[in-house]
Amino acid sequence: MKIGIVKLASCSGCQIALLDTHEKLLEIADKVVYAPLIKDARELPDCDVVLVEGAVRTEHELEVLKRARERAKKLVAFGSCSALGGISGMGSIYKPEKLIEDIYGRDLDYKLLDFAYPIDRFVEVDYYLPGCPPTPELISKFIDGILNGRVERHDYPVCAECGRLVVHTKIDNIKKTELPDPKVCLLSQGYVCLGSVTRGGCRAICTKAGVPCRGCRGPTDKVMVMPCKDYLTELHDRIERIAGFDVKFNDVASIYAFVFTSDMMDKLVSRIKEVIRKGRRGGRA
Ligand code: SF4
Ligand code: SF4
Ligand code: SF4
Repeated sequence: MKIGIVKLASCSGCQIALLDTHEKLLEIADKVVYAPLIKDARELPDCDVVLVEGAVRTEHELEVLKRARERAKKLVAFGSCSALGGISGMGSIYKPEKLIEDIYGRDLDYKLLDFAYPIDRFVEVDYYLPGCPPTPELISKFIDGILNGRVERHDYPVCAECGRLVVHTKIDNIKKTELPDPKVCLLSQGYVCLGSVTRGGCRAICTKAGVPCRGCRGPTDKVMVMPCKDYLTELHDRIERIAGFDVKFNDVASIYAFVFTSDMMDKLVSRIKEVIRKGRRGGRA
């Protein structure tokens, strides 16, 4: 088996998480034939599996992605930037010219695409391993799945792994800084926790530590295919139902980062498109 790892617009955090798999990495070390962070190889050869980290932000990255697709029997969207746009997708709130002006203050010798896209906008993807980054445990299991030909799906929400008790409450505002009750669902307490609309598999590591889920694994299949609701609206409505008060849409939208340029953007009812448009017009995103 030959494994390649390709990096596009990313922070390399997913590759670092791969290094954190320790023994699992040693198991596959001799199979990794191309990985800029861990292996000195110039050119991606034909591979059985190519993990692609990062979103597609430049024309050059698009070429790299297409080459990876040509050379991979199986192509994996590795991490949420690659699978959903992720953190890289947040740049899509601004027009490319504005980003270039603010960050570089000069013309670039390469062209930014209009958005930072997940890779499946351009090529067919065989497997998705979302997460920002995917936990080392998830990566290890995924590698086992690839080696054995049986990759596990996690089509259940983070709530299923969380263990906090959902109760209907009556509160009057979104909470951000107070210390939460350790046993009660964070959504019930008024924290914007995305666990109920987010794909599980991470063992709810954030909520178990008292931190609301930020949705880094992206939506469950169910939320993805709901025709009349998008991720933001669904979460907004759930908080209102459980915590029993009028939630401002911006309180939900302002912490939402991982799926800006995913399929969610294409839904007819997409509030994400609205957030992006507002930002591009110079309004509050
Ligand atoms: S998914 Fe997260 S950890 Fe991975 S490259 Fe993107 S920002 Fe970095
Ligand atoms: S909404 Fe968040 S805190 Fe509540 S059960 Fe789900 S994951 Fe846990
Ligand atoms: S709890 Fe949410 S934010 Fe934390 S790792 Fe899991 S999916 Fe990501």
